[in-house]
Amino acid sequence: ESYKRIGEVDGKVQAFLTLDEENARKQAKVLDEALGKEKEHGLLFGLPVGVKDNIVTKGIRTTCGSKILGDFNPIYDATVVEKLKKAETITIGKINMDEFAMGSSNENSAFAATRNPWDLDRVPGGSSGGSAAAVAAGEVFFSLGSDTGGSIRQPAAFCGVVGLKPTYGRVSRYGLVAFASSLDQIGPITRTVEDNAYLLQAISGVDQMDSTSANTEVPDFLSGMTGDVKGLKIGVPKEYLGEGVSEEVRQSVLDALKVLEGLGATWEEVSLPHSKYALATYYLLSSSEASANLARFDGVRYGYRTDNAKNLLEMYKQTRAEGFGPEVKRRIMLGTYALSAGHYDAYYIKAQKVRTLIKQDFEKVFEKYDVIIGPTTPTPAFKVGEKTKDPLTMYANDILTIPVNLAGVPGISVPAGFVDGLPVGLQIIAKHFDESTIYRVAHAFE
Ligand code: GLN
Repeated sequence: ESYKRIGEVDGKVQAFLTLDEENARKQAKVLDEALGKEKEHGLLFGLPVGVKDNIVTKGIRTTCGSKILGDFNPIYDATVVEKLKKAETITIGKINMDEFAMGSSNENSAFAATRNPWDLDRVPGGSSGGSAAAVAAGEVFFSLGSDTGGSIRQPAAFCGVVGLKPTYGRVSRYGLVAFASSLDQIGPITRTVEDNAYLLQAISGVDQMDSTSANTEVPDFLSGMTGDVKGLKIGVPKEYLGEGVSEEVRQSVLDALKVLEGLGATWEEVSLPHSKYALATYYLLSSSEASANLARFDGVRYGYRTDNAKNLLEMYKQTRAEGFGPEVKRRIMLGTYALSAGHYDAYYIKAQKVRTLIKQDFEKVFEKYDVIIGPTTPTPAFKVGEKTKDPLTMYANDILTIPVNLAGVPGISVPAGFVDGLPVGLQIIAKHFDESTIYRVAHAFE
């Protein structure tokens, strides 16, 4: 069914980079044969899943949306992919993304620009735009994305689906091609909150192969989803409803708060005073980490190698010049600059300090409130080509999602109605490792 639907719509949506029909059919056959045997099967049994193309899959091309990894065939599966196999899902293929997950619109992919299924003239968001579009278009039941600075939640909002960035450390990053290692997290994109919780349940947990994965108990995420939010205290940051947020988006959030009030929750305005520094902090830190992480793509160890070089140094330089797209180069240059000897203290160290202040903002609010609620994005999906000329307006779109990554806390985007026929996302944020409360609130609201 998945392949049939992909055949029907993917010419327009362009969510998939690699389809793996032969393997998927083999997997399906094995599962078919297993049915009816003694063994019990989980709820994800046989369901079709799409995987963002920065998560490695053994023997299936993993490009990261980049020419430099255009023909890279990994020799192992990421931990999350192994876990999906254990849950007996069927991997349908690999999904388009902004190159190395840098972008907010999918227009930075070296291969194709995925379109928003609600309006093909608009972007699906990014960088996990393909993962959100594939779910919204009914091509797969659910998908995996990654979120370094909003890349699961923003596309989920633009495509009208549910996307969760788990707490940093909840899900193993082993086999996720690193962009900014202190921020990256893999997470589920689904149609419903309940599906989302099932998928998170399947991929969570400590992993020997990722020293930053947390040795924290994985609770039963579904048990709290009773529809009951009586007595719940919600903080609504005034910075999230202020300047730059469209009137209609603000109204959708206020409407959502009314629904939750009707269910017995209460809300008050709060402040995350350092939010205004989040964008600058994020782009400095993520680019610094990226400049180090992407040094490994040198034409020797992975993927693409130039034919136009006479000696080793030229080979490194030419491979990178030809292999990386403009946005990736911009980030590497910015990051290298911020980490360089003369500028390290003024930029990198300063940004680290501000990151701590941003984290403390959240901790303070969570002393009194159970969740923080606001919009996921300042506006609904923008038009293809609208922000490609000016990277700064593209970056500004991440203003409401980025603080969550800097603080390391979990956040979800759930559909909260439409503005002019385009979906709007509601963002629900909770304390570290409290995804259960997020799901409880999101499910009650849904
Ligand atoms: N728009 C963000 C960026 O370009 C998204 C990054 C992400 O979450 N992968 O850095």
